[in-house]
Amino acid sequence: LPADIFADRRNSAGIDLSDPLVLEPLQERLAELENKHWVAEPTFKSGSEAEIAPINKPHDLTAEVGTRRDTLDFEVEEAITRAQAIQPGWDRLGGEKRAVLLEAAADLFEEHTDDFLSLCQREAGKTLMDAVLELREAVDFLRFYANEARRQFTRPIILPGPTGEENRLSLHGRGVFSCISPWNFPLAIFIGTPAAALAAGNTVVAKPAEQTPLIAALAVRLCHEAGIPEEAFQLLPGAGEVGEMITSDARIAGVAFTGSTQTAQAINRSLASRDGPIATLIAETGGQNAMIVDSTALPEQVTRDVVASAFQSAGQRCSALRVLYIQDDVYDEMLRMIRGGFEALTIGNPEHLATDVGPVIDPDAKSSLERHIARRKKGGRPVWRRRLHRGANAGCFVAPTIIEMDSILDLKRENFGPILHVVRYRAADLERVIEDINSTGFGLTMGLHSRNDETRAFVEARVKVGNFYVNRNQIGAVVESQPFGGEGLSGTGPKAGGPHYVQRFATERVVCVDT
Ligand code: GLU
Repeated sequence: LPADIFADRRNSAGIDLSDPLVLEPLQERLAELENKHWVAEPTFKSGSEAEIAPINKPHDLTAEVGTRRDTLDFEVEEAITRAQAIQPGWDRLGGEKRAVLLEAAADLFEEHTDDFLSLCQREAGKTLMDAVLELREAVDFLRFYANEARRQFTRPIILPGPTGEENRLSLHGRGVFSCISPWNFPLAIFIGTPAAALAAGNTVVAKPAEQTPLIAALAVRLCHEAGIPEEAFQLLPGAGEVGEMITSDARIAGVAFTGSTQTAQAINRSLASRDGPIATLIAETGGQNAMIVDSTALPEQVTRDVVASAFQSAGQRCSALRVLYIQDDVYDEMLRMIRGGFEALTIGNPEHLATDVGPVIDPDAKSSLERHIARRKKGGRPVWRRRLHRGANAGCFVAPTIIEMDSILDLKRENFGPILHVVRYRAADLERVIEDINSTGFGLTMGLHSRNDETRAFVEARVKVGNFYVNRNQIGAVVESQPFGGEGLSGTGPKAGGPHYVQRFATERVVCVDT
């Protein structure tokens, strides 16, 4: 790739929350949106007997933020019919025109900053900082994939051939893509995969997580206002059955899914056993992400980065740190400092500015995390928990927890929340530690804190993860700078926000003309 391919595009500046001249008016505007009621509905709805489900705040289950009107079976059918009918025209529009529409959507997203931040906080329980980062990523995805449409889908590549023969290679949409997104990035991931699919010339039926359809509904509405045809990008709110319908329909050309490994495997089986085209699956799934801290690491930096990696976003990132390996020479001191940082976290209502750790998404998430902690407590090893604030019972709060353990292999599955497991290792066992980490089969993120170049090279040569972070935290991949995605049980590999991502949504066509 030429070095200057991204020269014309810059990531969005975000919002400087440390500037009171920015923060105070923003907080006033968010307060005005405090009671706004939102609605998520299918883009085209024709039936009248649909279920309406309330969407409540994760941090206050008595407070309704809006309602979700589910998509009926025949409406799903119709949605795919419409998306399929318009797809050839959308593809023929070409990369440049699609780019302009996606960029217009990015501009509208920025104009609706207050609405998006408010929804991130109220519907998904995000802190203001996380909400700002999420909106930024969403806007960056739109502009980045728009740029990719322009770069790769506007003109064919001319290939060599003998005199009298013209060879052209061009990229095209595959057809209708189903995009299924998670609640933990209800805006950034919800819009990221459709933006890539649309950039490549596909049309999209999108099912947001059942917990967070409201923010998705606003995102889709703004895309339509920007000029993307309603048929080309349709919202299909609903529960798992809608997801099943749009991954088993024979007319679907591909699925972009972010969520659990088990669901990705089920979708893979469903795609394989249906009739119709051999479909593409782009999956970004879970992780059992580790960090290794050796005796040369800087303790203050480790403390900051471990606390952020494990507890920011209440640990509800695929990338979050789950298992921390600390070398025995520095174990006690390092753990003491990390516990100090952990004790300093403010847990509470994410709509309050001081909050570092908000709720988990819903009662099911809470009870599964609590079950895990209870089991580990029975095991007899030290477990430290933070006390929850008063009023926490009204919402889905899980007290941040640190658990000592012997090995990553003691964990049977990902625990998607504010729980950090800590393991002591001896320097002589470093290679085995890496083997254990690799043997989980997950391969999303890994962190290393070491000031020793040899150790860094040793670990880097052996890790099997999509994103390896050295001497920093291991969350918050930035579009274009750290394309994000894992391997093995963590996903099919394409990296969101990277230079090859949009191609994975496309099909290649060669035209050979005898001139
Ligand atoms: N891209 C996010 C990060 O780097 C994680 C995405 C996810 O949780 O699915 O933290």
